[in-house]
Amino acid sequence: SSATPYRGRFAPSPTGPLHFGSLVSALASYLDAKQQQGSWIIRIEDVDGTRCNARFAEQIIDTLNSYGLHSDEPIRVQSQHHNLYEQQLSKLKQQQIVFPCNCTRQSLAKHNGSHPNKCQSNLDNPHSWRLQTSPVIYEYQDRIQGRLVFSDDLKNNCPVLKRKDGFFSYQLAVVVDDHLQNISHLVRGADLIETTAQQLHLYHLLGWTAPNLCHIPLITNHQGDKISKQNHAKPIENNHLPTLLRALHYLKIDLISPTSITEALSLAIEAWDPSKLQGIKDLPLEEQDLHF
Ligand code: GLU
Repeated sequence: SSATPYRGRFAPSPTGPLHFGSLVSALASYLDAKQQQGSWIIRIEDVDGTRCNARFAEQIIDTLNSYGLHSDEPIRVQSQHHNLYEQQLSKLKQQQIVFPCNCTRQSLAKHNGSHPNKCQSNLDNPHSWRLQTSPVIYEYQDRIQGRLVFSDDLKNNCPVLKRKDGFFSYQLAVVVDDHLQNISHLVRGADLIETTAQQLHLYHLLGWTAPNLCHIPLITNHQGDKISKQNHAKPIENNHLPTLLRALHYLKIDLISPTSITEALSLAIEAWDPSKLQGIKDLPLEEQDLHF
């Protein structure tokens, strides 16, 4: 057929070891890719040099591998590609749709933390580069969330593409890499829905086609918060079949006593059905899993 080949990815930020919620996301992206005979690629999103570290990256990769999740291509590490992000930023500078900014947090607080579309900053002082925004509306069909429409997100919220300290932002790096790596499908946690409008805007400005999008419901703790490194989700054990089976359970896959991780994964590839997650807002941890 003329369809582009399926290329999916899991793109963790190495700010801590892999926790249960990220294992669930990693699995969803992997199962979706493999069910469609696609490639699955790991990418380390470590552009934020102040929060990421190489030791966590190694640990995350080891954990993924111990669950049979191996990258089909060499693992891309964003901190080695600053030049590529700089190139795309230059294109946006030429189009004059980014502007330098050295506003302080205090001054932005007057605008509820968002940025007014203009700025008196000059290029001499240390400054970030922000994207000028416009009242565009983006909508797309999410395979799990249904039709999503973003109308206000882009109006008064000029995202930083390169920070004052010289680091590029997640928003720019993720779009550039997904495009340059020919990623066709994103399967990721619903916490990233709110970043999507700006990403679609960047695709549009750079003249690229956005990948197919699918956001899975979030695993939440007993307080109803996303389990994350920020609220002390514990690292998961490596190579532990019961943990894998519990993770699959939240993806609505319940396997009957597989004997190995390899067997569980291949059964899960067949059983994966994202439509079972439609209409579900969060996935609260069940009693027996609260230790995650
Ligand atoms: N690096 C991002 C994170 O760990 C995920 C990026 C994405 O899947 O788009 O939250």
